[in-house]
Amino acid sequence: MRIPDSVIDEISRRADIADVVGSYVTLRKDGARLKGLCPFHTEKTPSFKVNPANGTFYCFGCGKGGSVFTFVMEIEKMTFPEAAAHLGEKYGVAVEAEPDDGKAAHRKALIELFARVTGSFSHILHNSASAASARQYLEDRGFTDTTLSEFQVGYAPRNPGWLASFLGKKGYTREFLATSGLFSRNYPGRALFYDRIMFPIYSSRGECIAFGGRAMNPEAPKYINSPETELYSKSRQMFGLFQARHEIRKSDSVFVVEGYLDVLAMWQSGLPNAVAPLGTALTESQVQLLRRFAGTVVLVFDSDSAGARATSRAAVLLEKVGIETRVCLLPRGDDPADIMKKSGPDELKKHCTYTINTLEFLVNDAASRTDIASPDGKAFVFDAVFPYINVMDSEVKREGSLAVVSDLLGVNPDAVMHDFRKRRRGTSENARESQAKVNTKADESNINHDLFLMLATAVNREFFPYVRSRIECADLEDRRSRDVFIALEECFRRHDDSLDRLLERIDEPETRELVLRKSSSDEYSVNAKQLIEDAVKWVRRESLERKQKKLDAQLRRARSDSDGRIEIEKLLQDKIDIDMELKRLKVIAHD
Ligand SMILES: [Zn+2]
Repeated sequence: MRIPDSVIDEISRRADIADVVGSYVTLRKDGARLKGLCPFHTEKTPSFKVNPANGTFYCFGCGKGGSVFTFVMEIEKMTFPEAAAHLGEKYGVAVEAEPDDGKAAHRKALIELFARVTGSFSHILHNSASAASARQYLEDRGFTDTTLSEFQVGYAPRNPGWLASFLGKKGYTREFLATSGLFSRNYPGRALFYDRIMFPIYSSRGECIAFGGRAMNPEAPKYINSPETELYSKSRQMFGLFQARHEIRKSDSVFVVEGYLDVLAMWQSGLPNAVAPLGTALTESQVQLLRRFAGTVVLVFDSDSAGARATSRAAVLLEKVGIETRVCLLPRGDDPADIMKKSGPDELKKHCTYTINTLEFLVNDAASRTDIASPDGKAFVFDAVFPYINVMDSEVKREGSLAVVSDLLGVNPDAVMHDFRKRRRGTSENARESQAKVNTKADESNINHDLFLMLATAVNREFFPYVRSRIECADLEDRRSRDVFIALEECFRRHDDSLDRLLERIDEPETRELVLRKSSSDEYSVNAKQLIEDAVKWVRRESLERKQKKLDAQLRRARSDSDGRIEIEKLLQDKIDIDMELKRLKVIAHD
């Protein structure tokens, strides 16, 4: 879907970035700007700034920044057209889908279908006689109506043909229904979910896009989930995230539990920041998803060996992306839903407030499965914690963790360190990773005069006419500066002063990031006129000096060549011009 520039411009004009960002981040005034805690990385002191004047945001901590579109794309994990549609809706700008784009229409129809089915299942659960045992089951587990309606829990009737005939009467075709993932692939009239308690799975926009179903019949597989469809990818969603998102952001922490009922139990116990993976172990995409919302994850997995394995795997994935983890230890054999059923919501809440350090958990768990007094036992424990410590980004944290391990094992810290280093060298993954990290932030260490001028001009666009009247692109030796100059020139000719368009025209991501970062700081905006005039002089001078050197070389060559007399005269004249201008510049520079 291609959205016309005029529509994008209209959205940019109407969208208030402070308002959009403000619905996710608490912003405080900071001069002409606003600042708050970055929603994209964990921080204690705000380095995330919003500049309402040019409609941009920038985080000095992690380097994320851009326009209001970028913000929505990042925070909601939307594509550009989705973000534009989202903002268009909010600010009353019609964003039309391409007329022949059947895909968007199909998605929309699927979302409508799921909304209808969710409503029907929920109605059946609460009103139909056929749902009596499901109601009883949920009541026995201690769930209140408020909880069930918050999550729109429903019941899929026992007759596998019911759904197809119900939807057929509403005018849905078999072909369309076959794309919904709600029916058996081989028998399109047969519902995938029947005689099950239904848990709608929501997208981050709050649309139901899939279901998880718990069987009432003990013979059937206990849980099944919707297959992947064009709406739903189970590795990229988490159950409960839509309901939990505000509380997660507010508390900067999220409980990851194992199942649907656990999420409901947590919610009912006053712990609304709980989510669950969807019938799989926590995936990397889910970790990335969580990272957008919270700095700390509390892992609340079943207290059996499978749960311990899941905890260990999740801890490594989370540590890898810099999310702090803690582990909540539940009584053996119980999950959150069990605890709420047996001892009530208060007891569950109490259990979840006691968490332990992940490293401690991993060491204790491994130690409980071996004889820690024996050398093999110690090696076993070390093996168990190695992957977790290995992915730590901070040297300090890693050393500290190794010290804890050596302490708990009662071995010499040097020996542990030595083993660790030896093992680490064997994992080539580390090298690749640190390489990737280096590239995330643009380098500020080599901002030369050329770049300084062009950055200052990009921040203070009103001075570009002045700059282009004094220097031309060829005066800039620095490649990045030329990139910015050309981008500014293109915008200037189109009378386009949006920062967004300027950024789009800059080729290199690092340069783009620098421009954005500087636009968000005060560095170049105080006393801008003087700053730019001075910088123009430096740039001009350096350019002239380069030309001077080049001329000298040409003169030397011309003199050694007998036919070069005319050329010499021309070169000399050029040299005199340059020398004079340089002299003039030096005089001014000393004023
Ligand atoms: Zn940040």
